[in-house]
Amino acid sequence: MNNKKTYTFLNLATVNKPFNARIKEALCRVADSGRFIGGHENEEFEQRMAALTGAARAIGVSNGLDALRLILRGYIELGRLQPGDEVIVPANTYIASVLAVSDCGLVPVPVEPRRDTMNIDTRRIEAAITTRTRAIMPVHLYGRIATGDRLLELAARHRLLVIEDAAQAIGARDEHGRAAGAIGHAAGFSFYPTKNIGALGDAGAITTSDPELAQVVSALRNYGCDYTYHNIYRGLNCRLDPMQAAVINVKLPYTAEVNAYRRRLAAIYNSEINNPLIEKPLFEPDDYCVWHQYVVKTARRDHFRDYLAENGVETLVHYPVPPHLQPCYPGLAGLSLPLAEQLGRQVLSLPITACTSEQDAYEISAIINQYTND
Ligand SMILES: *Cc1c(COP(=O)(O)O)cnc(C)c1O
Repeated sequence: MNNKKTYTFLNLATVNKPFNARIKEALCRVADSGRFIGGHENEEFEQRMAALTGAARAIGVSNGLDALRLILRGYIELGRLQPGDEVIVPANTYIASVLAVSDCGLVPVPVEPRRDTMNIDTRRIEAAITTRTRAIMPVHLYGRIATGDRLLELAARHRLLVIEDAAQAIGARDEHGRAAGAIGHAAGFSFYPTKNIGALGDAGAITTSDPELAQVVSALRNYGCDYTYHNIYRGLNCRLDPMQAAVINVKLPYTAEVNAYRRRLAAIYNSEINNPLIEKPLFEPDDYCVWHQYVVKTARRDHFRDYLAENGVETLVHYPVPPHLQPCYPGLAGLSLPLAEQLGRQVLSLPITACTSEQDAYEISAIINQYTND
């Protein structure tokens, strides 16, 4: 195919364009308010997040990694976790999930994914549980809920905490209609600019229906103080910037709309791509996946990626090297996790944001259908 057009993977200015006038107004409101830490925008954000997820409480924090770290630190302060305890994590995830665990002195135990959902394989979790296992951190990868009934039953049976890494899954729902953030004991969200709902910088949130945890993480994010100059925990400074809260408050009401558009693009890819060399992601007509990424698999991934680039289609790889093979985890390098490693060699993310029109999705599918493996 000879195509001069470029299919942009992601341009954040384009994504934010419909919101930009209101974002600028909101930023000016904060500038004029004289209140640059905490305040009205943060309170409004926390109410909106609680309402959106259905969790009793939402706590604004600095970013998604800090959200997960604070949850784990919170459970350590509450005596529910102790340094040295094991936390089951998916082998196929962004490294932040694993960093949060090790940063708190806990031991990450990676478990292989299912090839179809690319999420942690519940059938393999039981074999990874030891006498030190205290928690599971399922990651709703690419916007697909990872906490099925079997995982939740298993966790309940072994009295394990379930801490959702919901960074990629704002607005996603499970088969019972429960939203990401209200399924486990607590959840961490990210508003990193490339997420489905992105800030103009770093931002994150914790949701939980556990009032004790909510109280502890609220204090921990703010130097560990329960009231001014009274520090009950050795806390951190992981507060949500009100400028970012103001930006997210503009975009959060459009979560369902943003996700529905991604879902339309996913439905086009799903119906149009029919190249036997390309394995499409699971697409269920009634699922509530929010398609943070549309990830296909193919044997000669880099060859396929070069072919798409030659035809103007920008793609990314989420993620080429799983956490257990990163140089910062020499202790995990010996683990045998062939499924996660194979995904690292085979996955490719197609454009699926507001930068891609429905027509583009048809054209990209046609380009993909012309691909040959030679
Ligand atoms: C983005 C992301 C995070 C971390 O969020 P930040 O806001 O970038 O710190 C954690 N887990 C997953 C799965 C993510 O995609």
